[in-house]
Amino acid sequence: MHHTPNASVDFHLHSTASDGELTPARVVALAAAAGVRQLALTDHDTMAGLAEARLASEAAGLELVDGVEISSLWASQDIHVVGLGVRSRDARLLERLASQAERRRQRAAAIGARLQKLGLEDPLQQAAELAPRGLPARPHFAQVLVAQGRCRDRKQAFQQYLAQGKPAYVRTAWPELETAVRWIREAGGVAVLAHPGRYRLTRKKLRRLVQGFSAAGGQALEVSVSTHSPDMVKQLADLTVEFALYASQGSDYHGPSMRWVQVGRMPRLPSVCRPVTDLLAGRSRG
Ligand code: AMP
Ligand code: MN
Ligand code: MN
Ligand code: MN
Repeated sequence: MHHTPNASVDFHLHSTASDGELTPARVVALAAAAGVRQLALTDHDTMAGLAEARLASEAAGLELVDGVEISSLWASQDIHVVGLGVRSRDARLLERLASQAERRRQRAAAIGARLQKLGLEDPLQQAAELAPRGLPARPHFAQVLVAQGRCRDRKQAFQQYLAQGKPAYVRTAWPELETAVRWIREAGGVAVLAHPGRYRLTRKKLRRLVQGFSAAGGQALEVSVSTHSPDMVKQLADLTVEFALYASQGSDYHGPSMRWVQVGRMPRLPSVCRPVTDLLAGRSRG
C-alpha cells in the first residue's frame, strides 16, 4: 500500500481496553514517536482506556480526543460508528456502553459453546483470560483457535470460524446505526462512520449507507484509513462533498502483530475534504 509520511492526526486507535494488544499508555507513546500530535483512543464499546490515555497524552504533550467505537447494525450488517469528543464521564453513555458489554457477554458465551461443540478445549475460559475484564471479543477467540492449533493465524481463524456465515459466528442484537449516532451525539460527541470501505458494499449500497448515516445525524466519514485503497479514498471524499459531511482519518491500529497497520500511517485526506478537526476545534471554542 502507498502511504505518505506519517500523519499528525490519528483518530482511530485500539488498546487492551478492547481488542488491541498494547496498553493505552503504550499506544500514546507510539503515537508520540510517530509524530502524531492529535489522537483519539477509540476502543470497541468502552471508554475504560481513556483515563490512562489522558495521563500519558498530557505527559507527552499530545492532544487527546476522547473516543469510542460503537458496534451497530444497518440493513442487518455490522457497522461501526466512532464517537469523537464524547464526554468520558457521561452517565447515560456509560450506561449504554454497559448494555453493549452485556450483549458482548451473551455473545461470547454463545461463541464459546459453538467452539466447544467443534472440539476446542475450554474456549470461553481461555478467551476470557486473554481479554479485558474477562470479556472476550472475536480476536480473543481467534487467538484461542491459533493457540489450540486449529488455525495458522488470526486471519484464518476469522475466515474459517468467526466471520459472518462461519460456524462460530453468532449474530448480535447491536443497536441500529441511528441509535449509535444518537448515543454519541447525546454525549456531546461527533459521530463518524468508521472505515466505510471495509463493509464490502457495492457503490450504490455504500451511498445508501452514507445517506442513512447522514439522515440519522452522522457528521463525518472516515475517509482516510490505512486499509482503504486510493479508489476508495476518492469515492468517500466525493461522498463527503455530496452529503456535506466532514472527513476523519485513522489507522485503526490494533497492535504490532498486524504489521501492515501502524500508528499515524494512512493515506492523505484529499483536498476536497473538510477535516473533522475543523468541527472539533469549532466546538471547543464555542
Ligand atoms: P467483535 O467486535 O468482537 O465483533 O470483533 C471484531 C474485531 O475483530 C474487529 O474490530 C477487528 O479487530 C477484528 N476482525 C474482524 N474481522 C477480522 C478478520 N477477517 N481478520 C482479523 N481480524 C478481524
Ligand atoms: Mn477491533
Ligand atoms: Mn471497526
Ligand atoms: Mn476499530
